[in-house]
Amino acid sequence: MTALRGLPSVHRLITHPQVQPWVARVGHARAVKAARQVVTEARDRVRAGQAPPPLEGFVQILVRRLERMARPSLRPVINATGVILHTNLGRAPLSREALEAMVQVASGYSNLEYDLNRGRRGSRQDHVVPLLQDLTGADDALVVNNNAAAMLLILQALARRRRVLIARSQLVEIGGRFRIPDILAQSGAKLVEVGTTNRVHLEDYSRALAEQPIALLLWVHRSNFRIVGFHSEPGLDELARLAQAHDVPLVADVGSGALLDTRAFGLPYEPTVPGCLAAGADLVAFSGDKLLGGPQAGIVVGRKALVAKLRKHPLYRALRPDKLSLAALEATLRIYAREDAAQALPLWRMVAADPEQLRERAEAWRARLGVGEVQPSVSTIGGGSLPAAELPTYVLALRPRRLKAFVARLRAQEPPILARVEDDAVLLDPRTVFPEQEEVLLEALSQLLLEF
Ligand SMILES: *Cc1c(COP(=O)(O)O)cnc(C)c1O
Repeated sequence: MTALRGLPSVHRLITHPQVQPWVARVGHARAVKAARQVVTEARDRVRAGQAPPPLEGFVQILVRRLERMARPSLRPVINATGVILHTNLGRAPLSREALEAMVQVASGYSNLEYDLNRGRRGSRQDHVVPLLQDLTGADDALVVNNNAAAMLLILQALARRRRVLIARSQLVEIGGRFRIPDILAQSGAKLVEVGTTNRVHLEDYSRALAEQPIALLLWVHRSNFRIVGFHSEPGLDELARLAQAHDVPLVADVGSGALLDTRAFGLPYEPTVPGCLAAGADLVAFSGDKLLGGPQAGIVVGRKALVAKLRKHPLYRALRPDKLSLAALEATLRIYAREDAAQALPLWRMVAADPEQLRERAEAWRARLGVGEVQPSVSTIGGGSLPAAELPTYVLALRPRRLKAFVARLRAQEPPILARVEDDAVLLDPRTVFPEQEEVLLEALSQLLLEF
């Protein structure tokens, strides 16, 4: 096998002048590993009868690989899908204030758990609890990693080895395998289902409460689907009265966590956090990065005695939020406090975008690219929020000859571009594209369209 002798050594590749700058960027050990892989793959091909490429060929392959390795794996993308809260794309984009707060806190030390007034240990929760109290009307609040963690903590702390009452119509899967019955099982609580899939009556609850000891009553907002037709369920306020009469806490998992009335934005009604508390829920749990428009977090608000139980539970230590999330969350809540959410939070700016302006942007894209067609379409909220909400928009529809290859090339751009594919068209929705991303987007598209 004389051909094997034609293979370059790893050392020769690593020290090649074209490779050297990339070795510095990815680190010597990782570069050596990549070079070894490239040589091994070539050896296998030679053994299979192929001729080895010249040295330049190896260098090219290796440089391409090192280039990829040097790029951050987690990085920004351009979201042209029109799905505002895309869980796979990181849900809510943060406000400028939230970003600044994170940078400030991350760059050095902070008073995360230090009470500056008293000069002693403080609680990381203190930075957001007063704001959450003011914004929701709750007695107390607690923030954990995400809403799934909040539900796990609530069930562990308040219902472990005890019974939890829930309507059959609310035994939902939120996504990513997060299922209410599973999380109940995980937390050691016993599920007691009442009613049927489509109809649940207040008497179903009261009968179950009379039959056995119940630790808590769980109400879950169907945030990601709708039941239409022959369907009914008692209202949260009716459940609250029943729960109170039986001295059983009522916990509402609203998921989406709107603080604002979504109808003011032309969206369907969505239960708000203050509304659930006013209806009589003892605890309300919601996500920080859905309709709140903040960082990933699980927020629990409600009665002091119940929140105290959560805070004291050993599991809390494993679920507590980090300083970056808290910094971003505080900044986000301050925006709500000064009633500036519609302007300062990207999420609400996108929701509120005027269709006529979106049409103008799509037209400008079309004019710049010289191809495509502007057509009416709908953007969605996504992220398991407001499944029925349809926001009228205008998209630029492109119909490249090789659709699949075109979409793959969009993803391979830097930053990657994600679009919606419908029938034989790639749809680009201006609603979720930040104005400052437009130049990069259009430049990449015009280059790419030359090939398609
Ligand atoms: C989204 C959602 C959750 C999970 O929230 P995460 O913050 O993603 O963990 C739980 N319950 C409901 C009703 C939801 O909509």
